[in-house]
Amino acid sequence: MKPLDIYTLVFMNAFICIGMSVIMFSVHRTFKSEVQGVGHWAWAQLMTLLALPILATQAVLSEYIAIPGFNGAMLWGQGMTLIGTQLFYGQKPTWRLFLFIWGLTIAALMWWLAVTPNFSIRVAIYSLTSFGMYCALVRLVWLHGEKQFSSYFFVALLLLHAALTLIRGGFALAYDGASVNLLKTSNLATTYLATSTILVQLLSVVFLVMASRRLKAVLEQRAVKDPLTGVLNRRGCGAYYERLQLHARQADFPLALLAIDLDHFKCVNDQHGHAVGDQVLVFVAGKICQLLRECDQIARFGGEEFVVLLPGTTVAEARVVAARIQATLKNAQTDLPLCTLSIGIAGNSNVKDDFDHLLQRADAALYRAKNSGRDIIETDHAMLPGSAISVAQ
Ligand code: GH3
Ligand code: MG
Ligand code: MG
Repeated sequence: MKPLDIYTLVFMNAFICIGMSVIMFSVHRTFKSEVQGVGHWAWAQLMTLLALPILATQAVLSEYIAIPGFNGAMLWGQGMTLIGTQLFYGQKPTWRLFLFIWGLTIAALMWWLAVTPNFSIRVAIYSLTSFGMYCALVRLVWLHGEKQFSSYFFVALLLLHAALTLIRGGFALAYDGASVNLLKTSNLATTYLATSTILVQLLSVVFLVMASRRLKAVLEQRAVKDPLTGVLNRRGCGAYYERLQLHARQADFPLALLAIDLDHFKCVNDQHGHAVGDQVLVFVAGKICQLLRECDQIARFGGEEFVVLLPGTTVAEARVVAARIQATLKNAQTDLPLCTLSIGIAGNSNVKDDFDHLLQRADAALYRAKNSGRDIIETDHAMLPGSAISVAQ
């Protein structure tokens, strides 16, 4: 079989690297606050692009430039994929460790070039470092990756490349190093280069798929969350109620809803400014969250109105929760100017009942609480016939 021409391979690889780095940089520019690490993957492409002309012109270059230049750029690129993936998963990038290993590898390569020249050992050293970085990547994705096909495929490609790298290193040590010299056009060397190129580019494509999945998840989250307080918004609350309806095993599953409104909140804004008003809203949302169970949900329905969904809770139980929320905010240790809360409660004995109707009833109760003087809990009449209990706290 005729070996593949090394210059054709280098040219094709360079072409793909340019295209991929343009794509990755534009993805990075557009979504840098939502998805981290894509920029580092783009730099990895550029480092490979830098290494390719060194590889192609090695015959006319001094070894003292070509060897640290080519290996340094390739390993730097691989390190960028590792750092980029760490950032992608929200991990602290291990820059120091990477720089140490990178420097050590280049120093070792130079030793076996200048002091005791040995091509096979140089290939083995490079392969070992590269293998180590692939293993670190596999560990990272295994520990932090979403359990989905793209992560598994990514790991499979990494393992394949790690194995290929190890085989090349082993081959160089066991046989003649020249057989795996990337510049000598041999079947083994060009097959390694072609396979490695395809694997690296496939890895970049799969990383982009993982990044786009992440972006989709971030945007979906954003559509259902209130940006100020981080709790659900109205849409998210409706979606949560639908999920409850879908998963409720029995129809007679009770559920209570609290409609909460801050009293005279406008005065806080007027006296302390809008920014302090915002802080109060964040504080109130956080305090209420602390009092809820995992299955409960709080949502901000715009302005200074919150809704709390309490699945599996009767109206009587919801009153206790509402009283606890009022008391906690009254006794909260903070420098913020807090206001009292008016709360309207409504309940469904059947979770399959309409959400909007439940909301209307809680709002009507809240309206009565406001009209009765504020800082009051009112309960929807429909659930407690003849008992329009209002408890001043
Ligand atoms: P009441 O006791 O009748 O509820 O009186 P209130 O002042 O709380 O109610 P009103 O509806 O008159 O005013 C609500 C205020 O909430 C008006 C608006 O400036 C303020 N507000 C709405 N959204 C925000 C926000 O996102 N941040 C801040 N700081 N204020 C907001
Ligand atoms: Mg208010
Ligand atoms: Mg209001």
